[in-house]
Parts: sequence; C-alpha cells; structure tokens
Amino acid sequence: MDAGVPARRRREMAAATSGAGRCRLSKVGAGRRPPPARVRVAVRLRPFVDGAAGENDTPCVRGLDSCSLEIANWRNHQETLKYQFDAFYGERSSQQDIYAGSVQPILRHLLEGQNASVLAYGPTGAGKTHTMLGSPEQPGVIPRALMDLLQLTREESAEGRPWALSVTMSYLEIYQEKVLDLLEPSSGDLVIREDCRGNILIPGLTQKPITSFADFERHFLPASRNRTVGATRLNQRSSRSHAVLLVKVDQRERLAPFRQREGKLYLIDLAGSEDNRRTGNKGLRLKESGAINTSLFVLGKVVDALNQGLPRVPYRDSKLTRLLQDSLGGSAHSILIANIAPERRFYLDTVSALNFAARSKEVINRPFTNESLQLHVLAPIKLSKKELLGPSEAKRARGPEEEETGSPEPPAAPSSASQKLSPLQKLNSMDPAMVERLLSLDRLLGSQGSQGTPLLSTPRRERMVLMKTVEAKDLEIERLKMKQKELEAKVLAQEAADPKEKENYSPTMLRPLARRTVTVAKPLKKAVVMPLQLIQEQAAYPNAEIHILKKKGRKRKLESLDASEPEEKGEDCWELQISPELLARGRQKILDLLNEGSARDLRSLQRIGQKKAQLIVGWRELHGPFSQVEDLERVEGISGKQMESFLKANILGLAAGQRCGPS
Ligand code: ADP
Ligand code: MG
Repeated sequence: MDAGVPARRRREMAAATSGAGRCRLSKVGAGRRPPPARVRVAVRLRPFVDGAAGENDTPCVRGLDSCSLEIANWRNHQETLKYQFDAFYGERSSQQDIYAGSVQPILRHLLEGQNASVLAYGPTGAGKTHTMLGSPEQPGVIPRALMDLLQLTREESAEGRPWALSVTMSYLEIYQEKVLDLLEPSSGDLVIREDCRGNILIPGLTQKPITSFADFERHFLPASRNRTVGATRLNQRSSRSHAVLLVKVDQRERLAPFRQREGKLYLIDLAGSEDNRRTGNKGLRLKESGAINTSLFVLGKVVDALNQGLPRVPYRDSKLTRLLQDSLGGSAHSILIANIAPERRFYLDTVSALNFAARSKEVINRPFTNESLQLHVLAPIKLSKKELLGPSEAKRARGPEEEETGSPEPPAAPSSASQKLSPLQKLNSMDPAMVERLLSLDRLLGSQGSQGTPLLSTPRRERMVLMKTVEAKDLEIERLKMKQKELEAKVLAQEAADPKEKENYSPTMLRPLARRTVTVAKPLKKAVVMPLQLIQEQAAYPNAEIHILKKKGRKRKLESLDASEPEEKGEDCWELQISPELLARGRQKILDLLNEGSARDLRSLQRIGQKKAQLIVGWRELHGPFSQVEDLERVEGISGKQMESFLKANILGLAAGQRCGPS
C-alpha cells in the first residue's frame, strides 16, 4: 500500500517533533498541564457509489464551504438546515485531503507523550471503512498514519538522538459491550482498568511490536477477518462492532534520568449508526443494535460534555468511552469524522449523523433547491412552524429583513416546486447588484403610488400577502358561522311549528349543516369537547373525515379511543364521528414524532413537558424505537393513565394537522 505522503511533509512533521518540541515536552513533563483539548469534528460526504442508487438520484445534502453544509428540513420544506463543523470534506475530497487536513496534524502529539484518537462515525455504507482503511489504490487514515508514525519514530530514535522509540499495535473490537482481542480471538471478554495515574489499561490485550509497515500488515490483515460483521438490509456486510486499532509509541530516554513516555493513538471504525427500523433488524441483530445505539449515544454525550466543558463526562457509561477515557478530551487530541452519504435513502440517517456531530445548526428560511426532496417518504409532520421550533429557533427562522437583498449563497437553479413555494428563490438566484437596483425601482414606484404588480417579491411582501389571505379566511369563517346560526334558527322554528316533521329529520339530512359549523350555542352545551381548530377546519373543509352529528338520547365519547366506556343515556347531544383512517393517521403521526422527534419537538405535544420529553428520548436511545404509542407506558415515569390521556389529547390535533396542512 502506498500511503502517498510526500517526503517534504514527513520532514516537516519530524522537525515539528524534534528540537524546540522537545523543550516544550520537558515542561509538560515537569507538571504544567496543557489546556484541555476539544474533540474536533469533521464531516465527510462521500460521492454516489455505483449501483447504490438509481441513475436519477440527486443529492440531498450539499457543501457550502470548508466548514459547513446544508440539507433540506424534512419537517418543513420551506426551510433548509445549515450545519457548521470544524471541517467539511465534500464528495470530491481525496483520502489525502482528509488525512492531511484532520489527522496528520495530531500525530506529532504522540511523540510528546500525549494521546490521540480518530473516530469514523456514520451510518453503514456512508464511507467509514473507506475513510479509515480505504483500499490499496486509495489508502485511508490507518495506513497513512501508520506509515508516517513509523517514519517519524525511525527518525526520532536514530543514533545520537536522546530518546529510543518503539511502536506496538493492538487490535480489538467492542461487540455487544464485550472487548474482544482481534489478534488473539480466543481470549474472550477483556476487562478495562484504570491505573493510579488515570491511564486506561486492558490487561491481557495482545501487543505486537512493529518496526515497518509490512510488520503492521502482517498482523492487521488476518485480524481484520476476525471482525464481527452481519448482514442487514442496508449493507450486505455491515459492521456491527466498533473496530479499535491501538498504536502505542513508547519512548525511553537514553541518558539519565532515563525518563519514559508513552503516547497512544486510537484509530476507530465505529459500528454503523443507522436506525433499527430501517435495517429490518430482529432478534440478535436488534440486540446488537441496542448495544451499538447505547455506546454511540454515550459517545455523543461524552463529546458534548467535553466540548461544553461540563463537570461530569460520562465515560463510564459504555465500554467504548471507558476505553477512550484517557484519549478523548482532556490532554488528548481527538477528531471525530462523521461520514455521510448523498443518496436520498440515507436522508434520515444523514440528519441524525449531522445532529450527532454538529457544533452548530441553523434553520434557514428558504427551501432546499433540490426538487427531489419533496418526497412523500419524507412527508413532514405538518405541525405549525411555531410548534416545530423553539422560540429562539423560530425567531432565527424568521430571518433578518436583509434577506430582501438576497443571500451571498451561490445561486442555485430554482426548481419548479420551489418556485411554486416561494418567489424568493428567484431573488436568491439574481445578481445582488441587480436585486438592489430592482428594489430601489420598486420602492420608487411604490412611493409614487403605483398600483401595478410589484417588481420583486420580498419576505415582507410575502408575509403581507399571507396575512391578507388569513384575514379573508377568517371573514369567510365568520360569515359561515352567521349562516349556520340562521339555518339553525330556521330548523328550530320549523320544529316548533310542526313537531311531526321533526321526526323526519335524520342525522344525514342535518349533516351538511353540522359539517359547516358547530358554533350553535344551545346544543353544544351537551356536546363532546372538541379542539377548536377542528371546528374551524370543518367549516373550511367540507369533505372532512370528521362529522358532527346531532344524536337523540345518547351520549358517547370518541369511539375508537375509549371503546370500552359504557354508553350513557341522556338527552339530545352532539356526537363526533371520526373516520378510523383519520385516527390511524393520528396514531402514526404520534408514533413518528415519538421515534424521530427531538426533545423540543416532543414538548410541542400536549401533556409532554421538558422532563417527559427527555425521558422519552432517553428511553428511545436505550431501547430503540417505539413500536406502538402504548409503549410509552414502558418509559419509567409515565403511567398507563398518563399515556392514555396523552393519546387522547394529541391524536385528533395531529391527524387534523396533517389533513389541513398546505398541499
Ligand atoms: P461503511 O464502512 O460506513 O459501511 P464503506 O466504507 O464500506 O461504508 O463504504 C461503502 C461503499 O462506498 C464502499 O463501496 C466504498 O468503497 C464506497 N465509498 C465510501 N466512501 C467513498 C469515497 N469517499 N469515494 C469513493 N467511494 C467511497
Ligand atoms: Mg464499514
């Protein structure tokens, strides 16, 4: 394998670790602690791979610059999510780009007696193994780092130099929270210990001395075949374990005081982060997924805690993070490379990988200009934007008025769908100077009282048009309410005049009346309580799947929600008839939200506060997805009664939200 590292770069690295570098080292050794290092995060977007997608597949994610990318917001087509990282490598980036940009700079710290780790994260098929291992033609991080380290140590321990250096390697996997030695598979589950100086050790783990790259390959290649892999629907040989290559650089001073130093480098190809539901995992695979999810969840918590400077870092909560305790954060130098794929079928996994890795996330109030994302499989849960976003995000999403003069983003070809959604897209694709001139002209025409069509559509103008539409709708609803009252009065008058006639009125005959509005004061006193928005929606949508019927002498609650409740005899009342499809849709939406919503999304549901939202998210991370809404009972802290009341409170709202959302 040719690592392709230029000799000049190797000389630079050697220079960086000798001479002045050594002086700094002695100070470190003398007790001055270096400032704690953050875990740096890079994202690598792989190109489309042959046979992985249809020919017409278009990317669902796109790089913006060397640190950021954008992706459509699946919850709201009109928005784009922009993520910021320490580095972003696009689909054209080479193995050398990633290595030189994010990995090579940390290697020199090993010779200073510090630890380092490189972790490849992402769903199966997104390019983790390609990034870490690569191929003989395109060697990845592991062969390149090994070549460089071996070269460096040779140079550093040459005759006459003060330190003698040696390199050893160990190779292990963490599978279902068991630590297995890949160089000696028969040794079984190994324990992780910590010595009195906080160093993490694995007693019994095989360590092979290596002095050349051929040595490394001799041990590494056969051991790789011992890895636990399984077939999932996503990828035929998907990795189900975390593969951990440990390279230790030991240094001994040749003269008194004969100090010793050790630097550890972890190179980790993490197990796939994909969602259980889409892998079709069952039985053992589901159990594996549970273990994978748990350790990746804890890894995310550890990275967050380190990067936010939190006092407690939960290293001990999984084997993976416990192993990395002395090499992730603290004085160690760590880089997490989140691998993502461009194909639409990866969309949800991509979003979750980005959320895992992102340093910051921003909601941009404009549609992703790729028509392909308007997919029914990604159909958003049509909650209102206010419900979806927290107050701060909603504020940001509204965006500054400056958007009127276009953003500095590169112009993107407007799709027909996005044109339909927002004329702003046209504005974004114009030359800013042209936009400025048109806006001035527009303002001038406006100030002269021109009534013609505006030259440009701006966010403010769009909002005004929307507000006018809403006002017109409100007036229409008011008008319908009045008409309803009139008709009701007529019916009552007729009933009073001819009581026999009254018997001939069937609910079906009343239906057109009832479907239009229910704001009739008297009968509603005995009606079931119904969400206000449903009442209004009924007026606006005559073909609704909800009917309010006037019933004689019976009172019953929502059928499919509470089928066991006995019927009660009573006077005339109003009954809500809801199609089973609508209820099923409501249930499905609740389930989707439980499985895919963030804690903030969950708080937008009735009866779910901050604490419960966190309990739900935590449960999901530990146990995988909810298979039905009733699983909520299994969350510690949520009783069966609370689950039922939660279901009742949300089912209609969500079902109706979908029905009435913009088409
Ligand atoms: P993972 O380890 O995340 O499951 P792989 O590394 O096996 O994913 O990548 C899946 C497929 O995509 C492989 O065929 C691999 O060669 C290819 N691939 C991944 N990343 C790239 C890339 N940057 N350039 C070209 N091909 C890639
Ligand atoms: Mg892999």
